[in-house]
Amino acid sequence: MKIYNTLSRKKEEFEPIQPGKVSMYVCGPTVYNLIHIGNARPMIIFDTVRRYMEYKGYEVNYVSNFTDVDDKIIKKANEEGVNSSVISERYIEECKKDMKALNVKTATTHPKATEEIDGMLNMINVLLEKGHAYAASDGTVYYKTRSFKEYGKLSHKNLDDLRGGNRSLLVSGEDQKEDPLDFVLWKPKKEGEPYWESPWCKGRPGWHIECSVMSKKYLGDEIDIHAGGEDLIFPHHENEIAQSEAANGKPFAKYWMHNGFLNIDNKKMSKSLGNFFTVRDISEKYDLQILRFFMLSAHYRSPLNFSADLMEAAKNGYERIVTCVSNLNYLLEASQQDNAASDAMSAQETADIEEAKGFIHKFEEAMDDDFNTADAVSAIFELVKFANTKVTEHSSKEFIRAIKDEIVMLSDICGLIVEKEAEILDSEIESLIQERQDARKAKNFARADEIRDTLLKQGIVLEDTREGVKWKRA
Ligand code: AMP
Ligand code: ZN
Repeated sequence: MKIYNTLSRKKEEFEPIQPGKVSMYVCGPTVYNLIHIGNARPMIIFDTVRRYMEYKGYEVNYVSNFTDVDDKIIKKANEEGVNSSVISERYIEECKKDMKALNVKTATTHPKATEEIDGMLNMINVLLEKGHAYAASDGTVYYKTRSFKEYGKLSHKNLDDLRGGNRSLLVSGEDQKEDPLDFVLWKPKKEGEPYWESPWCKGRPGWHIECSVMSKKYLGDEIDIHAGGEDLIFPHHENEIAQSEAANGKPFAKYWMHNGFLNIDNKKMSKSLGNFFTVRDISEKYDLQILRFFMLSAHYRSPLNFSADLMEAAKNGYERIVTCVSNLNYLLEASQQDNAASDAMSAQETADIEEAKGFIHKFEEAMDDDFNTADAVSAIFELVKFANTKVTEHSSKEFIRAIKDEIVMLSDICGLIVEKEAEILDSEIESLIQERQDARKAKNFARADEIRDTLLKQGIVLEDTREGVKWKRA
């Protein structure tokens, strides 16, 4: 399996630090608003990377944080006249709902920055002791960027170019930096801001130290993969490397993965530009599986332009797979009712199934090449086409099931739910409830219980009340 590593700017063979295990840290969102679909891109991409690694048999320890202390959270809290934790907790919950709806697996750990302050104080102390940081007279602690000889190795920037080229980095304003390239590890609180005690001042951490510390705590000093959007390469990830490697004395992450931007009219979708759609907005018009499909239809490192046309194309593509699976289920059910239908595969079907395995091979080849999900999805389409031509009402049950399982399995690696449980209709529920009442009246309790269990399996909960039987979907 090859992964493009931002550090070397090459595709490299993936070799985990510990055989059979993958440790992976993905920088998560700052929680002051509903997430937009640009934020959803890394969530979907790296969840797919995780799912593929798991399919390959790796045990994946997947950590993704919530940045829950930040200027924007504090600003929003002040506007609403509430504590900043009210804002961050609200949007963490909303973000989790969106992730679930996008079929993004829950991380092994979802740490929150505000719960990891002790670790941050420790790492800052180590950096001070090792001469990589200094405290200014107002209590701000800065990282001494020039003390880390390899600074710039991820973003391929040269310290002297940064000094000469990027004027904005030189604007030091009222701060007390020794060098304009230095960055904040700890800063003093301002009026109305959340703060923690520290040896330097009452204050709060800088953004970069949060990820260095949460990654160390949950994954160890050296990890396999560190990931996020490409806007994080500089300065966030560059600074994380400087902090972690200086403090731990070990290489930090082996592979650095970055997704390209989700754009709108060829401009990066972002909260600050106001050119965004939230995941919630999209869910009003589309099944979010279609959004997931849309994200996977391009290579993760390429920019992806969001448009109504492309979403319609994604809808058609996704529905082509869903329809095929639903037809296969229909044929399977029909053959189960048909005593004449054969169970086992014929010799021709056995040969066809062998041929169908070629699509798994194609899928894996695409994913092994730096997670080329666009080609992987094409392999699923070819399999769907194959199923549509090969499966008929005369096919054996074993054959139909084997083809269907293959489509569902490959889609599942992409996190795409293509087998929809047929939803029981309200009218069917009502008539089953009536039948249960009749059975009870006739003292046929076995049938009454059977109906209750059948409904329960479909997620319908019955409640016997004085006004009669009430039901709800669980
Ligand atoms: P933020 O909340 O801005 O810190 O972003 C959380 C994650 O979303 C980071 O990995 C960002 O790089 C990523 N991200 C933000 N905007 C976009 C975008 N338009 N396209 C792709 N990724 C993005
Ligand atoms: Zn981070």
